[in-house]
Amino acid sequence: MLKLDKVSKTYKTGDKALHNACFEVPAGQVVGLIGPSGAGKSTLIRCINRLVEPTQGSITLGDTELTGLNRRELRRARRRIGMIFQEYALVERLTVMENVLSGRLGYVPAWRSYLRKFSADDIAQAFSLLDRVGLADHYNKRADALSGGQRQRVGIARALEQNPELLLVDEPTASLDPKTSRQIMRLIRTACQERNLPAIINIHDVMLAQQFSDRIIGLKAGEIVFDGAPDALTDEV
Ligand code: ADP
Ligand code: ADP
Repeated sequence: MLKLDKVSKTYKTGDKALHNACFEVPAGQVVGLIGPSGAGKSTLIRCINRLVEPTQGSITLGDTELTGLNRRELRRARRRIGMIFQEYALVERLTVMENVLSGRLGYVPAWRSYLRKFSADDIAQAFSLLDRVGLADHYNKRADALSGGQRQRVGIARALEQNPELLLVDEPTASLDPKTSRQIMRLIRTACQERNLPAIINIHDVMLAQQFSDRIIGLKAGEIVFDGAPDALTDEV
């Protein structure tokens, strides 16, 4: 479970990007994070993976207080958080399989030699995940030979390869066509249900958010202005 307690972020520039965010995400729940540009969605996601230091408040994942970790502890904590990105963040010159396996390292491997470290079990799990996202036949292709939708499938498999306790997903469909977007959202949702994995998805498209989330959190000017069931969402958010 993820818990945020009175989390605020004011940037050095004076921008109050997030104010007093309080909520819990239980296991298996998919939260769609919506709101206009500048509302604080990215700031919220970045506070959780500590790419941004919150000014106030506490964030806990399981038993771990994420705020106030030293660099080494933070590295360990980040391995428990799977990230999926808008622009996929794959290593283009590596194969699909190598990209998926890199999820286990928690960082992008600089050379292929890193990948020789993986056990048969690691590789079996990666194969099974690639099969799950429909890319088993493409395991040996370079990432730069894939379509956008295929790349995002690799991104999903890579995040799951970490066996994460939380998924943070930043605009996963912003570069994809509507049909592929729905397929990607469905994959993420199903993966979370199967693994009882909580997720926060920063998503601009309100319809998609409603269709594929268990719960919607709406942000506006750094404030949570809606927190509830997708079908309870009103036009003001
Ligand atoms: P969203 O993801 O909803 O578009 P952001 O979290 O990116 O919103 O931004 C929220 C507010 O914080 C905006 O006013 C934005 O200009 C500001 N902001 C975001 N990142 C920074 C930063 N690194 N430094 C200063 N201000 C920032
Ligand atoms: P996105 O919304 O796709 O996350 P943005 O265009 O909001 O990206 O931000 C791009 C980068 O600029 C981010 O690192 C963000 O933190 C930073 N940023 C955004 N707004 C500001 C701002 N007002 N001042 C300084 N940096 C900002």
